[in-house]
Amino acid sequence: MATATINPATGETLETFDELSDAGVERALERAWQTFLSYRTTSFADRAAWMHAAADILEREKDHWAEVITTEMGKLRSAAVGEVEKCAWVCRFYADNAERFLADRIVETDAEASFIKYQPLGPVLAVMPWNFPFWQVFRFAAPGLMAGNVGLLKHASNVPRCARAIQEIFERAGFPEGAFQSLIIGSSRVAAIIDDNRVRAVTLTGSEGAGSSVAERAGKRLKKAVLELGGSDPFIIMPSADLDAAVSTAVKARTVNNGQSCIAAKRFIVHEDIADEFTRRFVSAMEALRVGDPMDTDTEIGPLATPAIRDELHEQVQQTVRAGARVLTGGEPLDGNGNYYPPTVLVDVSDDSPAWKDELFGPVASVFVVHDIEDALRVANDTKFGLGGAAWTQDADEQVRFIDGIEAGAVFINGMVASDPRLPFGGVKASGYGRELGEHGIHEFVNIKTVVVNPGQQAKRKTNAPE
Ligand code: NAP
Repeated sequence: MATATINPATGETLETFDELSDAGVERALERAWQTFLSYRTTSFADRAAWMHAAADILEREKDHWAEVITTEMGKLRSAAVGEVEKCAWVCRFYADNAERFLADRIVETDAEASFIKYQPLGPVLAVMPWNFPFWQVFRFAAPGLMAGNVGLLKHASNVPRCARAIQEIFERAGFPEGAFQSLIIGSSRVAAIIDDNRVRAVTLTGSEGAGSSVAERAGKRLKKAVLELGGSDPFIIMPSADLDAAVSTAVKARTVNNGQSCIAAKRFIVHEDIADEFTRRFVSAMEALRVGDPMDTDTEIGPLATPAIRDELHEQVQQTVRAGARVLTGGEPLDGNGNYYPPTVLVDVSDDSPAWKDELFGPVASVFVVHDIEDALRVANDTKFGLGGAAWTQDADEQVRFIDGIEAGAVFINGMVASDPRLPFGGVKASGYGRELGEHGIHEFVNIKTVVVNPGQQAKRKTNAPE
């Protein structure tokens, strides 16, 4: 089977790729294992130098990589440049901090010496999505490679150029051949790779369905898994909020990445005292967004990544409308080439419709009106997901209620949910488990080894704990 780069703005096929054969996968697995045996002994200083070199390549050539991203999955070119810069940031963050995060930790016990040591696990398989086709991969690869693991990437089938590009960047940066390999394969080949003894762990970013089948396989083989899955994040606006800032941030939070972000705000939960005012201004700002060619600097919303994604989104909107919702703007796919869908706002969404229960992966917002803070929390938490949540209020007591009460991996007050290399990222409930980024992220794929040395054993080895 072949996979292809198809420009979402035009529908044009730009390049096709052959899938890797079974023999090719076997060669890649063996190369990964053999590389790991020597790579795990490399110093933090060497790994950091290679990681900084990768960051240099990304920064120097960001326009080129941004074009690869935009022509393959349709995000705005400016957003693609930002994504490449963020990848450089995560490379530098782990290059500068991994040694400190993974230093031995002395724990006082009755023994002569006792400490915790962090060691790499081995080859880690990463199954990744197309929506942030560089960022999702770098945020797995930077901590993984700095920890001494090696990476095997199975990227989404619609972004093979990005998959090839990332392997090339790590190789040009100086990482040993085999430290990071992209496997051009379909999802049906993932299970056999998880089964392989040389693969020690798996991480998946993607939908619930993909997460559950990868987790099932990893569980069967007793392998560590991290899952970063979907979300239907609430964005709550209370009467004391700065409404100008809340409206403009709400538009950005819903339409970031053409609406295709796991942490995009999807459900706007508004106090009844300001509901009419918020909704009027929000609809007008959504309507004013310029939809068009993602390479054009004036464009604010580009196409969705594939025709299938656009069709699924439209089906969800239609089902929600059939269940009683009203469309205040948008709601019909745009004519012409490219997978364009207009900014859309729904109200009167019933609790049995897709816009309430599921994730809508495109520029479609649902507005819910609530009576008070308890009602806001009830609606916010009435979802199977738990990735992020934002709450807008200037009232300190309300802020604490939202920080404590929103069931999610992240809560942002008076802002929009965003990832940051310095802070852990991940979800609860059907949004997955485990964490990426920050210090927690690098600890997911290491052996946390307890070491106890008793008197008389002549253990000369010193720890590398900071003085
Ligand atoms: P997807 O269809 O689940 O695909 C993600 C990856 O999983 C792709 O590489 C895909 O390969 C593979 N895959 C699909 N089904 C599989 C299976 N049964 N077994 C093994 N691998 C399988 O998701 P997507 O459409 O690319 O991405 C959108 C989803 O990702 C959304 O739900 C979004 O919220 C979520 N997401 C979550 C985060 C987060 O950090 N929590 C970040 C970004 C995106 P193929 O392409 O070959 O099918």
